[in-house]
Amino acid sequence: MSDKKIYTVEDLIEKVSKYQSEESVLNKIREAYVFAERCHKGQFRKSGEEYIVHPLNVAIILTEIYADSETIMAALMHDVIEDCGVEREEIEEKFGREVGKLVYGVSKLGRINFSTENEYLIDYYKKIIVGMSEDVRVIIVKLADRLHNMRTLWALPEVKQKKIAKETIEILAPLAHHLGIHKIKSELEDLSLRYLKPDVFYDIAEKLNNTKVERDNTVNEMLRYVTNLLTEHGITHEIKGRAKSIYSIYNKLNKGRKFSDIYDLLALRILVNTEQECYLALGIIHSKFKPIPKRFKDYVAMPKANMYQSLHTTVFGVDGYLFEIQIRTYEMDEIAENGIASHWAYKEHKDASVLMQNTTEQKLQFFKSIIELNEDKMSTEDFVNSVKDEVLNNNIYCFTPKGDIIELPKDATPIDFAYKVHTRVGETMVGAIVNNSIVPLDYKLKSNDIVKINTSKSSKGPSREWLNIAKSTQTRNKIRTFFTKSEKELYIERGKESLEKELRKRKIPYDEFFHQEKQEILFKNLKLSTQEELYLDVGNGKYSANMVVNILYKKEEEKEPIKKVVIQKAKDADIVVSGIDNVKVNLANCCNPVPEDEIIGYITKGNGISVHRVTCHNLEALESRNVDVCWNEQTTDKYVTTILIHSNTRENKIMEILQKINMLDAGIDKFITMSRGEETVYEADLYVKNLTHLNKVFQELDKLSYITKVERLMK
Ligand code: MN
Repeated sequence: MSDKKIYTVEDLIEKVSKYQSEESVLNKIREAYVFAERCHKGQFRKSGEEYIVHPLNVAIILTEIYADSETIMAALMHDVIEDCGVEREEIEEKFGREVGKLVYGVSKLGRINFSTENEYLIDYYKKIIVGMSEDVRVIIVKLADRLHNMRTLWALPEVKQKKIAKETIEILAPLAHHLGIHKIKSELEDLSLRYLKPDVFYDIAEKLNNTKVERDNTVNEMLRYVTNLLTEHGITHEIKGRAKSIYSIYNKLNKGRKFSDIYDLLALRILVNTEQECYLALGIIHSKFKPIPKRFKDYVAMPKANMYQSLHTTVFGVDGYLFEIQIRTYEMDEIAENGIASHWAYKEHKDASVLMQNTTEQKLQFFKSIIELNEDKMSTEDFVNSVKDEVLNNNIYCFTPKGDIIELPKDATPIDFAYKVHTRVGETMVGAIVNNSIVPLDYKLKSNDIVKINTSKSSKGPSREWLNIAKSTQTRNKIRTFFTKSEKELYIERGKESLEKELRKRKIPYDEFFHQEKQEILFKNLKLSTQEELYLDVGNGKYSANMVVNILYKKEEEKEPIKKVVIQKAKDADIVVSGIDNVKVNLANCCNPVPEDEIIGYITKGNGISVHRVTCHNLEALESRNVDVCWNEQTTDKYVTTILIHSNTRENKIMEILQKINMLDAGIDKFITMSRGEETVYEADLYVKNLTHLNKVFQELDKLSYITKVERLMK
């Protein structure tokens, strides 16, 4: 398994020249090698070899996927920034900007820290994304780097072996898979398994070895048969027997398949020239060998997300052995093996790197959509899950009634489907029909479902509940955008209304107020630049209309402080105690009564009368000392009361909640977050005018989808 051959730079040049023969380019590669060798002089690997052996081998690996010369040079120098203190600028000067950029990108990835179980995925992916958004070749070099490190992992202590192998299987192999570079992916997997579960690995390897001769004979017999069959029908082709990777066998065992089932399963791959011939060959084989129903997969018509295309079928072959047969064109095979790197092999495309960049952009869109999420809105766990869901799990494929294929994550719902078709379809969706039956919106779609989305022009848009139903992060993102957008619109509308109202009240003509000179003063004062921004700030409660108007029109008689909450303990005059004048009155802070609450007084020992809500449980045993009290209706103060807000999400919603409360002109004194398992509870001390005001706050908070309950606290 490990690459024992000792390569020289001339081996590298020979391999490159098979697909890139320009002398000047080859010389540049030699130069890069000499430079790297000089930099690493005196450094040795844990295996005892000179350090340069490692970058040279990484470059050799890359020739197997026909990497371009810039990538090869970058591979040769990939460790010189980190290990030899060479500056990026020096590489750029000597070998050009592109190479410098690649080397720098790989170094950046190398610095990633895998500290905690959860966090590392995030950091890693983030940095990968940063690297990738510049150039996907950075990732390809990184994969080759890791492959060589895995091949020489034996030199490290066991703890390190396990750590690196784990990282490889969890992050790098899936990444290789996502980029479709099967060659690297499958070797990374096998090597990881060897270090993570050596017993299992060697057990499988041995069993494979023991049955090899017999299996080879059977495969060869089948191969001859199929070749004759296809030749008879005039189909030019090539057939390869193919070794299943140890890891793929391990995976199947893990999924509960039996050893014997897997070992008996033999595999062939048929390569033909055209797509038509794929289907033709399939038909011919099925007419001779009975296929197993349900095992047929058409990835030609429905390519996987990583561009993989192939027909898969399993048939009863010679001697009753099961054969797993893949049929594909040469081009499909190239893509299946090398994925995104396969563009290097197609020289007719003038600028392979540009082409790759385009493909990358399409194919890695999901990475971006993950990072584009406002990360603050997501907990670490959510983030990791979304990455795992979208990167590591299989996708399903559903159809529109017209037969278009829609790719969705596993367990996706009709809502995901609708949004994937088009955001507009999602936003106007009113129902869904799957395979001719009406289904609920949280219905879990399966591959091959035919989905018809019913829409209505009069639909008011998605419901917040959909955020809990939608499976894919993109969908939830789109739904969220809808709400942020429409909330913003709402604020703007509201701000405009209240400003106009204020102007009417003060008899200021609208045109005068927004006269250019005045407007300039106003905007300068508030650091705004458009009318819309002004409306938004008024609508969301940042400024009151009154205050905005005051900037331009000072009114002597109305100098009331704007938005300033009057924080004040109840004065004697707020409460009228029946039959008693001039008595000290306190509002009890166990139940925090506010005007309009039914209240009752309690005569304390030496501290006047304490006023409670009649429902306060602290009153029960104290009846004899009770006294009737009522609110002074003239009171204009605000009163403190404590409320609990329960939300069913662990996302941080504080800003949204505070804004809501603030918009209602309620003051906030204290705001504490308490998490309880899946829910988050906020305890807030509010200043409100009266019970009506408080109830209004409750109503508004209730409208937030994630808020499950709002209640007053009684201590
Ligand atoms: Mn390296």
